[in-house]
Amino acid sequence: MTSLPAYERDPFAATLESLILHCGEERGRPFAVLVDTIFYPEGGGQPCDLGTLNGVAVVDVQKREGEIRHYLASPLTEGTATLELDWARRFDHMQQHTGQHLLTALAQDRFQWETTAFHLGPTVCDIELKTPGISLAQMLDLEEAVASEIRARREVSARWVTAEDYGQEAVRSRGLPEGHQGEIRLVQIEGLDLNTCGGTHLRHTGELEALKLLGTEAIRGGIRLSYVAGGRLRRRLGAHEQRNAAMRSLLGAPDEDLVSALTIKLDQLAAQDRRVRKLDEELAEHMALGLAAQPGALVELHLEAKEVGFLQKLARGILAAAPAKAVFLTTEANGQALFLLSAGDVSSLDVPTLGKAVAAILDAKGGGSGKSFQGKASNLKARGEAVARIQGVQS
Ligand SMILES: [Zn+2]
Repeated sequence: MTSLPAYERDPFAATLESLILHCGEERGRPFAVLVDTIFYPEGGGQPCDLGTLNGVAVVDVQKREGEIRHYLASPLTEGTATLELDWARRFDHMQQHTGQHLLTALAQDRFQWETTAFHLGPTVCDIELKTPGISLAQMLDLEEAVASEIRARREVSARWVTAEDYGQEAVRSRGLPEGHQGEIRLVQIEGLDLNTCGGTHLRHTGELEALKLLGTEAIRGGIRLSYVAGGRLRRRLGAHEQRNAAMRSLLGAPDEDLVSALTIKLDQLAAQDRRVRKLDEELAEHMALGLAAQPGALVELHLEAKEVGFLQKLARGILAAAPAKAVFLTTEANGQALFLLSAGDVSSLDVPTLGKAVAAILDAKGGGSGKSFQGKASNLKARGEAVARIQGVQS
């Protein structure tokens, strides 16, 4: 067989001295092919490694046309090669990936749930299981079984067998890549699992540190079970703690009371919202009566920070009491201005035409039909000009 790349011989090598065999470019991306490499190319659900080659960033690693291409931030030339892995990334991948082997094995052995897919995401991983459902109790049982195997520090090892011997091995899944030739790589968790895999793994299950199941989601034909392992679990818990500390401070409640404290706040907010709406309605009715009694054919008024619903209610109230009048109402809040032009039933004002003219003056977007036109603008600097135009038409 051909010699194995360094990432298969020793998945714990973080640096390597080698040679650049040749360089090339693929759709504008410079790449290098090496005599030997510690960079794992994306495959089998495990993302590729990143790091540096002669100090230049390795931004992607893929198997292409029978070679391993290291895609580079800038081109290099043939010669000696110093490789350095982003070790934190690689070790994280080994924890998540080895965690998947363990989860898959235990889900199958304890529950007869077959794994049909695996995703190693940037923050969360998941496996897809062939089962109609997973209860919370089952999830906790599976998590406990995983914890027990982590404590058992079972050895994880890789070996190669010939296609002939492969048939005699008690391999769990028999999925080989299409067109696979030569020897087959088997990854074993001592006393628990034997599987074909080309990925990088921990030396024993103890290096997983811990694995936490996060939740389930029904997907077509099965259940997606999400999890985090190792350093990710600690980082995630740390982020949760920080968020909880911020919430404790904001809500003035201990962790166990955060949800009820927030529920109370939201209920209070909803009650206040209803009260403000009711007061607004009363205010609009009250204002409408006063404004309708004023002399003149046009009622024009600017209001501080009102919603469009308030403008509409106020306009309806005025025009119901004084159907010969027209109203021009404006409001402004949070950098957005609104205007409403409405005419009463016995007014002869051509609202659609005049509305468009007002929108043009205010540099606003708007529309309307019949007796009402409303629009939005970024400001009301030209408000005086708009009022003059309306009064000019009315006189
Ligand atoms: Zn694997």
